[in-house]
Amino acid sequence: MKKKKRDNMETKQNTGEIYRISGPVITAEGLSAKMHDVVKVGNEKLIGEVIQIEDNRIIIQVYEETTGIKPGEPVENTGLPLSVELGPGLLKSIYDGIQRPLPELEKQTGNFIKRGVVVNSLDRNKKWDFVPTVKKGDAIEGGAIIGTVQETETIKHMIMVPPKMKGAIKTIEKGKFKVEDVIAELDGGEKITLMQKWPIRHPRPTKEKMPPEVPLITGMRILDALFPLAKGGTAAIPGPFGAGKTVTQQSLAKYSDAKIVVYIGCGERGNEMTEVLTEFPELEDPKTGKPLMNRTVLIANTSNMPVAAREASVYTGITIAEYFRDMGYDVSLMADSTSRWAESMREISSRLEEMPGEEGYPPYLGSKLAEFYERAGRCVGLNDKIGSVTVIGAVSPPGGDFSEPVTQNTLRIVKVFWALDAKLSSRRHYPSINWLQSYSLYKKTLDPWYDKNVDSKWSELNNEAMKILQEEEKLQELVQLVGSDALPERQQVTLEIARLLREFMLQQNAFHKTDAYCSLDKTKEILNTILWVGQKAYAALDKGVRARDIVAIESRNTISEAKFNEDYKKVLDKAKKNIEAELKKLVEDI
Ligand code: ADP
Ligand code: MG
Repeated sequence: MKKKKRDNMETKQNTGEIYRISGPVITAEGLSAKMHDVVKVGNEKLIGEVIQIEDNRIIIQVYEETTGIKPGEPVENTGLPLSVELGPGLLKSIYDGIQRPLPELEKQTGNFIKRGVVVNSLDRNKKWDFVPTVKKGDAIEGGAIIGTVQETETIKHMIMVPPKMKGAIKTIEKGKFKVEDVIAELDGGEKITLMQKWPIRHPRPTKEKMPPEVPLITGMRILDALFPLAKGGTAAIPGPFGAGKTVTQQSLAKYSDAKIVVYIGCGERGNEMTEVLTEFPELEDPKTGKPLMNRTVLIANTSNMPVAAREASVYTGITIAEYFRDMGYDVSLMADSTSRWAESMREISSRLEEMPGEEGYPPYLGSKLAEFYERAGRCVGLNDKIGSVTVIGAVSPPGGDFSEPVTQNTLRIVKVFWALDAKLSSRRHYPSINWLQSYSLYKKTLDPWYDKNVDSKWSELNNEAMKILQEEEKLQELVQLVGSDALPERQQVTLEIARLLREFMLQQNAFHKTDAYCSLDKTKEILNTILWVGQKAYAALDKGVRARDIVAIESRNTISEAKFNEDYKKVLDKAKKNIEAELKKLVEDI
């Protein structure tokens, strides 16, 4: 009797049927499941994930369009958690939210992606040249690198032992292998392939998280100088539509000193995703002149995927990022935009009839966002390699209002806030990052790195610049009231120095061949020159020259030429000579 009951349960375990359908949320009965099991829903076997378990029913979010499926259709539990495939072939890939390669999907089903299509994430037939770095008899543990594959022209893929394996190498071979071929065997009989799987909701293990003491160098002057981001750190770019979130993230993808880029696109509008899909593969890697895709994994939620897939795409992306981190690489992960993910949480939550929190978002919005951002970090891996995942999330608050829940919850988690400002973008001040609203909580821990590696005066110069910009804000208020001529002379000069800082230091054209990337040395030289002009100008003022003459010297604007010139030192030297001569003449003419 007892045995019979168990048998019943076992047959019961794997399949059941649909009870209710509410958009992407399906209730099924007649099968047992664990949280986050992957299930196949309906006659078409749509991919879904268990998100709630009730007494005798399970609730599933489905990652494919559910229109047309009916109660009574079968639901099958795979018993496995939603996982990604990790191995050679990830780079250059364009995946959907559940890691199905989009080009492959299109090939199989045409432009309109059919449902329930099973496509492998990694190409099963492609052969990779595997070069072992360990030999027979070597003792290895989870995470150990046992060999390499030159995955793209730019990136060597380290083949690692899956985290929980351990033993001595019994066999290992050099040669051409497919991702599922056994390349090594351990004395305990475990077989190692080029590919491994990992459940997306579980962070990959590391030995230790390091403090945020090394910057991610972005090549954007305002970010490197005023609001620096640490490798392994977290940043948010909130801004209204058209303020520059996507351009900024693409600049970071191209120019920052992360080796691997994982770009998750959750498009606001259908055509925006199409833009990413056509533009990204065409981007050139400024460091190598080769396609940026050589070191990129692109994850895109196309508009015909339902909202639930946005969540999967975020976890898929961060897991792939962690995998490359484990190889010892610095990885940057961009999510554009996390607001679309939050909106999908809101929709699913309302279909689950959960008690809504602020503005209808579920009360767990903050903890979900935190779970994602907390997977960032610069870590010592199981193999003792140091790698990092830096997470940069775009947020698109409706109307650019930062007081809304997604922005506010994100700000509680991330350490860097790059506030985009519609007022600046409408003035064509790019990047439209508001320097008074933005902040970086890493500045203190990173300043020592910059002072040591760039210039001992780096942080002093930046603090000085920030002071002038803050003073400008106060003076602008006065100017509105009394006009700039009524300001004391010294402050008229300050306003001009602030203008130089804004236009020649903070403004940067993401589309100009030379200006798009600014080295730390160049940033420092430009900053140094502008502050030097300030000192010279105040000195001239003290000697009796009138402010209106000082702020009108012609050569001051030649500083801007340095932005567009590789030989910036020469340009700045010349500018300084001319400025000095002009000021000297003013003093002589008194
Ligand atoms: P969002 O993603 O916030 O909606 P985008 O990143 O698409 O906005 O930016 C909108 C437009 O603003 C771009 O097409 C570009 O013309 C301009 N822009 C934004 N940032 C820059 C920049 N750093 N340099 C030059 N132009 C920029
Ligand atoms: Mg955008």
